[in-house]
Amino acid sequence: MSELIFTAPQTPTLAVAGDARRFPVRRIFCVGRNYAEHVREMGTSPETTPPAFFTKPADAVVDADPSLEAAIPYPPATRNFHYEVELVVALGAGGADVPAAHAAELIFGGAVGLDLTRRDLQQAAKAQQGPWDMAKGFDLSAPCGALVPLTPAARLDEGRIFLAVNGALKQDGDLSQMIWPVAGVLAELSKLVKLQPGDLVFTGTPAGVGPLVRGDRVTAEVEGFGALALRIA
Ligand code: MN
Repeated sequence: MSELIFTAPQTPTLAVAGDARRFPVRRIFCVGRNYAEHVREMGTSPETTPPAFFTKPADAVVDADPSLEAAIPYPPATRNFHYEVELVVALGAGGADVPAAHAAELIFGGAVGLDLTRRDLQQAAKAQQGPWDMAKGFDLSAPCGALVPLTPAARLDEGRIFLAVNGALKQDGDLSQMIWPVAGVLAELSKLVKLQPGDLVFTGTPAGVGPLVRGDRVTAEVEGFGALALRIA
């Protein structure tokens, strides 16, 4: 291999529950508008097709297992910084044009994640019909709990998903409310890009999103897929 100009950056990784090894993150895909009630609170009407995909840089991940007491600084360039709790699926295998019936076979595990959002920048981008990237794909914008390896008994199509700020419940939904269930999300995404091991997919947020301020403590949980805690410094 040719010599590099500078040392290559390390691959971002996430913790795996019950395993000393870590999960290497390749790319981060996210689904927008995947819970009808959240679509309505954003001022648009729910559509069933197609799912809206966007991305974040892989190094936006932050280890946010509750044992770590993780903190991130309030991000620059926003006055309306929002939480969005989401089920994150982590792929252990890849593929293109994957049928929904086989999509679950790609999944290594799941976790609870936050799709942190600079809502003011997103609203400005929507108004200008411009790209959302800087509203969604900023530094430290994808905190994630430890990945829970998928077991045959795991359910991706039902289970409580909820988030609290300073102990007050803000989002409380169920995975069964997804417009596009996990298998459908992966099948649709695999028509657009060839999925790869290491890819993370944030599967959308239920209703109740809102702002965070410095000093807030966010806790979140997805039934069967662990918990997350994060402080805004
Ligand atoms: Mn989201």
